Amino acid sequence: MWRERDVGADLVVRGRTVITIGLTGGIGSGKSTVAELLRARGALVIDADRLAREVVEPGTPGLAAVVARFGEGVLGADGSLDRAALGRTVFADGDARRDLEAIVHPAVRSRAAELSALAGPDDVVVHMIPLLVETGQQDAFDLVVVVDVDPDTQLARIRDRDGLDESQARARVQAQASRAERLAAADVVVDNTGSLADLAVQVADLWRDHVVPRLTGNR
Ligand code: ADP
Repeated sequence: MWRERDVGADLVVRGRTVITIGLTGGIGSGKSTVAELLRARGALVIDADRLAREVVEPGTPGLAAVVARFGEGVLGADGSLDRAALGRTVFADGDARRDLEAIVHPAVRSRAAELSALAGPDDVVVHMIPLLVETGQQDAFDLVVVVDVDPDTQLARIRDRDGLDESQARARVQAQASRAERLAAADVVVDNTGSLADLAVQVADLWRDHVVPRLTGNR
């Protein structure tokens, strides 16, 4: 049944609503792991990081715009974007970074909207967005899920996964919103301090308590 309060952030597909979840968390908090657990339950996962790479692939308007702004020096020998070179260009230059974001972010959002539109009735669409809070998108979804982990566990997992030393790992954490800012934006917090089995239980609870009731309400 159609419900007035479902109008807004929801997508309308053939007269029914799609449930949208904004999934975020600090680097290494376990977003990708949670996204996989949600995918296993049938959710359609849209990964903003992956889209951010796709929209500047060779031949895209995104890459053309980046080259127009930053010059051919950001291209590698094969004509693809040299991320390290671009990173050096925008590092410590706020204007350059904002210009880059003004190219990439709208392209990512428009591609994410295209992919969301492929969702069927009663689908659950998970938008995995590392910088959801930093980019002020907390009101764009039915449910904002924040994966939270204590700082020591977070640093240990990043170092392990990405082969970084302590200060490199800390720098990556510090470049993001604080834990408190992220938690303030959450409708649901998934605590990933424990084991993967603990995490799976929480995702099952999240699905049961926050997703299933919305799906049932749409029928
Ligand atoms: P994010 O996508 O938020 O950066 P990941 O899902 O990649 O984080 O998780 C970071 C690292 O920690 C990965 O190597 C992942 O396999 C590992 N990890 C995630 N959750 C747990 C957990 N509960 N126990 C142990 N390792 C975990």
